[in-house]
Amino acid sequence: MVLKKIGTPLEWAELADPQPGPGEIRVKVAACGVCHTDLHVVDGELPNPKVPIIPGHEIVGRIDLLGVGVNELKMGERVGIPWLGHTCGVCPYCLERRENLCDRPLFTGFTRDGGFATKVVTDAHFAFPLGETGSDVSLAPLLCAGLIGWRSLVIAGSGKKTGLYGFGAAAHIVAQVAKWQGRPVFAFTRPGDLSTQAFARSLGAIWAGGSNEMPPEQLDAAIIFATVGELVPLALKAVRKGGRVVCAGIHMSDIPGFSYQLLWEERQLLSVANLTRQDGIDFLRLAPEMGIVTKTTRYPLNQANQALADLRAGRFEGAAVLVP
Ligand SMILES: [Zn+2]
Ligand SMILES: [Zn+2]
Repeated sequence: MVLKKIGTPLEWAELADPQPGPGEIRVKVAACGVCHTDLHVVDGELPNPKVPIIPGHEIVGRIDLLGVGVNELKMGERVGIPWLGHTCGVCPYCLERRENLCDRPLFTGFTRDGGFATKVVTDAHFAFPLGETGSDVSLAPLLCAGLIGWRSLVIAGSGKKTGLYGFGAAAHIVAQVAKWQGRPVFAFTRPGDLSTQAFARSLGAIWAGGSNEMPPEQLDAAIIFATVGELVPLALKAVRKGGRVVCAGIHMSDIPGFSYQLLWEERQLLSVANLTRQDGIDFLRLAPEMGIVTKTTRYPLNQANQALADLRAGRFEGAAVLVP
């Protein structure tokens, strides 16, 4: 499913199978999650887009061809392919082990073809072995929603009481991670979205309410997954002195002006960008132990536009996953 022009629906196309170059692998896609970032790609909200492009960066599949020089992975092995598709290895950020900020990265499904396809070629160093536990569909959302959620939770610090603003694919995984870590979760949804609030409680949130409400206790940290800038001052208001507010999205509407009082007393406002391979290794190693259960809605690959429309409209809980 190809995005040929920004702002238009994806188009079904029959293409030749891609061939892996040196250091690359080809993966037969078994499942690919649909992420909010895919909407930003289609809408042209990210800088320097590449078109035509095959979106999709929550890929689970099996290796069906190894490029020259790939020794660490085997034919038939199940792997996961995330958003970060390549880093340069020599820029200042790569050298200080912050490859998520690399100056010359490639991103799966944005600047290199992704997983809304039957086959995908990727840099072997950016494919995570997934083992054989869990179904392809259930694992797919871990590759971005789970990973970005994990990184956000790490950056939120060691505080316990954690607010999650926007309870979609990422938050529904993070809520389970936080519960496993013994952190009480406070879930914020669109005002009046009682069914999502009930969904959050079913995943262990000790409180759920509208984003216009204040939680019953001050929070140690808040993570904003929704793409709504108005949430930033609300989240700052909800955290205690020294608390952190982490913006986890790749794109957000403008943040309205707010009183310095909301930031005063060493509150911190941070953003999370991309992931490092170490995040993937850390999170995917712990995921089976944490007993994460993803809630997924399946769509056939040729229904990718419907999946994107349903994501935009908030028509399902958890995550959408395309199956070729
Ligand atoms: Zn770099
Ligand atoms: Zn994503």
